[in-house]
Amino acid sequence: MKNIRSYSIEELTTMMEELGERSDSPRRARKIYHNLWKKYITGFDEIEDFPQHIIEHLKEYYTLNKVVIHTQQKSSDGTIKYALKLYDGNIVEGVLIPTETRMTACISSQVGCSLTCKFCATGKMERVRNLDYWEIYDQVCIIKEQALLHYNMDLTNIVYMGMGEPLLNYDNVLKSTQMCISNDGLGLSHNRITVSTAGISKMIKKLADDEVKFNLAVSLHAANDEKRSHMMPINDSNNLQVLEEALLYFCNKTEEKVMLEYIVFDNFNDNPEDAEELSSFSQRVPSKINLIEYNSIGDTEFINSREERLKVFKDILYKNKCTVMTRRSRGKDIDAACGQLANR
Ligand code: SF4
Repeated sequence: MKNIRSYSIEELTTMMEELGERSDSPRRARKIYHNLWKKYITGFDEIEDFPQHIIEHLKEYYTLNKVVIHTQQKSSDGTIKYALKLYDGNIVEGVLIPTETRMTACISSQVGCSLTCKFCATGKMERVRNLDYWEIYDQVCIIKEQALLHYNMDLTNIVYMGMGEPLLNYDNVLKSTQMCISNDGLGLSHNRITVSTAGISKMIKKLADDEVKFNLAVSLHAANDEKRSHMMPINDSNNLQVLEEALLYFCNKTEEKVMLEYIVFDNFNDNPEDAEELSSFSQRVPSKINLIEYNSIGDTEFINSREERLKVFKDILYKNKCTVMTRRSRGKDIDAACGQLANR
């Protein structure tokens, strides 16, 4: 069985021609495409007002390979974590993060991850495979449906911050964002989408060359090579200087700022000199800083910064005129918070 969602409209048109549809082929192809992506059907029988012999043909030779909810857990703060089953039995996690004004889907781009960041539960798993773009899209559609079901509110934002490194699955991630933005798909505004990377410099430049319109976030977590390499091995091959060059290239080409994600670890990267280094990096690269509360993954090396240390840290950033936001942790009690996704 072939996956019908890998077909473009042109390929569907050819398929219809081969079925003898002749002049009706483009119209039939468009209807199938609309049902696959916009209506997000779960079976071919859901295509309304369509010739039965074509539906039977589709059922016989094609599959939708839909992602389905395997299990779900709801946090006391309303966050819901979904274990999502892929057609081959692999599981990834997606998270619905509700606030009064936003419904955010945090989605995965790979099964596992190869980058082994020390503070991250996913990094302790093997990378199994990349997700196809329709699997990434399915996660968004599932979480969108769940947002309506549980909160009667439509999805407003998508963040590629779940399992995996999005820029190591570049083509599928890009195609999935295109389907989320396209009027043939979800029709979301590009500035509602954020792709987060651990800092694959070459691919950051490629994003700029490809003129992407979504937001880019970088998991910086230290503006000092020694500390960054200690927790993120990717820094050995993509050090801060290389990363800075790539980010400047991106910012210059897109005329956009990037978000520097910074998990604040107690007594590791929350010293006054760390704040000065972060300020200096942020002053060189057009950026905003997002300070993130850490959630332990049962490892004692990294723990969340204490209130009094965080205050001193932030005061230095403010004194240096950095734009700073603070992200409070959501879904900690169900291991759904940042760095905790590991199919548990
Ligand atoms: S933080 Fe991101 S890139 Fe690093 S191991 Fe975890 S999932 Fe992979």
